[in-house]
Amino acid sequence: MLIMNLNENIEKVGERIRKAAESSGRKEEDITLIAVTKTHPPDTLDEAIRNGITDVGENRIQEAENKFFDVIERKKAVWHFIGHLQRNKAKKAVKFFDVIHSVDSESLAKELNRLVENKIDIFVEINIGKEEQKSGIMPADTFSFCESITKYEKLNCRGLMVIPPIGNNPEEVRKYFRATADLQNELNKRNIFENTLTDLSMGMTDDFETAIEEGATHVRIGRAIFGPRKEFHKR
Ligand SMILES: *Cc1c(COP(=O)(O)O)cnc(C)c1O
Repeated sequence: MLIMNLNENIEKVGERIRKAAESSGRKEEDITLIAVTKTHPPDTLDEAIRNGITDVGENRIQEAENKFFDVIERKKAVWHFIGHLQRNKAKKAVKFFDVIHSVDSESLAKELNRLVENKIDIFVEINIGKEEQKSGIMPADTFSFCESITKYEKLNCRGLMVIPPIGNNPEEVRKYFRATADLQNELNKRNIFENTLTDLSMGMTDDFETAIEEGATHVRIGRAIFGPRKEFHKR
């Protein structure tokens, strides 16, 4: 099931990323496009990778497990886990994924640290809109939480990740992106981690340009590349 215009969509998104980077005085190379392939079959992932996609994102372990080995070009891509990760699925997560964007509890951090052989890149997920139904660390707990995971030496924390509240337009979510960047700057100022946090995972189809203007380094984009999702399962 090949998607019409996939190559064109990838180019258009790339162009929008370039423009957003340029208009905010940043370099396009500093922004990683993660193509979010959830609900899409293995041949679509292959087509995307053959059209220049270097990074793919999935949000469910079960789905990733079902399709991973059917993706012929899987080794050419960096695999990002972007959904909520239950501790009992951490073992599979480290098997399939190179980066975990959604570390949101100490027990998960501990388990990932126990399971990985060498090191794994992670992001700490912040519930930046303090929404009850969402996972992520509450903004006020960011410093104590990050402090609590610095002892897990195999976790290479690259920065913060957020899924802000849904707004009616990108301007409404700008304040959440800015607040996330501010939190990250403060973490760096306080030297919570040994290394400086350089990355920010934020921005999706409806708001990625705003996210880039506010400092995003990893934008996670599904619909602008693959079209609407056929939601045969819940998110
Ligand atoms: C689905 C998903 C995305 C991509 O959303 P689009 O609106 O299709 O670009 C990004 N991040 C996460 C965590 C997702 O689950």
